[in-house]
Amino acid sequence: MDVETEIHCDLAVIGAGMAGMAASLFAANRGIDTVQIGIASQIIFSSGLLDLLAVHPVEEGRTWDNPWEALDRLSGDLPDHPYSRIKKSHIRKALSETVVFLADSGLAYQVNEERNSHVITSLGTRKQTYYVPRTMWNGVQALHEKKPGLIIDIRGLRGFSARQITETLKPVWPGVRHERIEFPDMRSVQEMYTEPMARSLAVPENRKKLADIIRPLIKDARIVGVPAILGMQDSQDVQQDLEDMIGVPLFEIPTMPPSIPGLRIRETFEMKLPEKGVRLKYRNRVSRISKNNDEFLLEVGNDAPVSRIHARGVILATGRFLGKGLYADRKTIREPLLDLPVYQPGVRPEWHRFDFMDPRGHLINQAGLEIDNRFRPLDGSGKPADDNLFAAGSILAHQDWMRMKCGSGLAIATAYAAVNAFLKTTSKNG
Ligand SMILES: Cc1cc2nc3c(=O)[nH]c(=O)nc-3n(C[C@H](O)[C@H](O)[C@H](O)COP(=O)(O)OP(=O)(O)OC[C@H]3O[C@@H](n4cnc5c(N)ncnc54)[C@H](O)[C@@H]3O)c2cc1C
Repeated sequence: MDVETEIHCDLAVIGAGMAGMAASLFAANRGIDTVQIGIASQIIFSSGLLDLLAVHPVEEGRTWDNPWEALDRLSGDLPDHPYSRIKKSHIRKALSETVVFLADSGLAYQVNEERNSHVITSLGTRKQTYYVPRTMWNGVQALHEKKPGLIIDIRGLRGFSARQITETLKPVWPGVRHERIEFPDMRSVQEMYTEPMARSLAVPENRKKLADIIRPLIKDARIVGVPAILGMQDSQDVQQDLEDMIGVPLFEIPTMPPSIPGLRIRETFEMKLPEKGVRLKYRNRVSRISKNNDEFLLEVGNDAPVSRIHARGVILATGRFLGKGLYADRKTIREPLLDLPVYQPGVRPEWHRFDFMDPRGHLINQAGLEIDNRFRPLDGSGKPADDNLFAAGSILAHQDWMRMKCGSGLAIATAYAAVNAFLKTTSKNG
């Protein structure tokens, strides 16, 4: 085997989704020498909202205004759920450390500390979430106050119809109307994509052209909603500048994937983690892990030659099926990297319920790694597979993050728990 580089570190984080990014952030903030390896993740599909917990029990479809009360109920009902292994005060700290980092990097978030907020979706429905990007926050308040509003869509942008949004919203927000615009200088383009539009708004001249198109449509509206295209890393400046020019507050509505708020999060981590000392091996896959004495050896690379990473500890944040942290063949669900046992329904016919929309969800969405209270995956005998191997994020068993509306919160909180467990183990071992 040709080896291009040998890298030594304390901790290797595998995965570049929300769990892997958050784990690298927490590790760097605690002075741990960290290498992160990963390929494209679900972050670019995500709306940028940071859900904590909105639905429990899933089979009752019960929604919660106060996510912290929901967490109390969940820990009583589901002791194996990953949240039940983390103190509420630690979940708060994990989320707050993450949003402080994002805000310092130019991506500010807003929250009602003890309440979930309602955000308008691209279907015109309302979604409960916890931390909301500042670019969407005016919409949370407008929906609450029901002031006269205008929703704008863009010709050629698929999956975002202002008419559909306003029609669906009318019963809860009667004073909202819709308009369609042409995005400046893209009249000849038939199919519009969010990323070129967002990047074009970095140019002040383009912002002025957009403001000139929107201004005459405002009339009695006191707030304007647009698809989430208000810039990339400069989104707060873009929003402020446009608001100054049109004279009313603006808010973003999440679009279909790929999502600009998701891309903003990914780019922020990719730019800022190296400044904190994290060494990134993105666009790379870990193909093999072995252990030699007290050291993990990770072979990294899509083709030979590969890099070899020597690490004292590993956090596995490789996601579920989309991320390829779990693999399902015709009979069974496997964890492909270390062949760890996967909690799963007994036989394949039990993976999915007959009705795709069954409110109880599908058993396959509870599959994943079983862990102990220190977030160490268990081996076949129910003991930790290794003292220094930890897992975080959607690869963990006994949670259906999509139905419970807890995706990013779970990824962040479990990453925090895994990093702190690694710190404890290393300080114990000197
Ligand atoms: C469409 C969509 C919308 C969403 N909307 C929201 C939302 O509104 N609010 C919210 O809170 N959350 C949302 N989420 C969830 C959130 O974005 C995360 O997906 C979730 O939190 C799980 O993150 P994760 O890091 O555990 O897994 P993933 O995001 O799946 O990341 C796993 C990572 O591991 C990498 N990997 C796997 N195997 C290897 C290997 N061998 N070597 C190297 N790397 C490897 C993958 O490439 C990937 O980078 C949404 C997700 C999707 C898909």
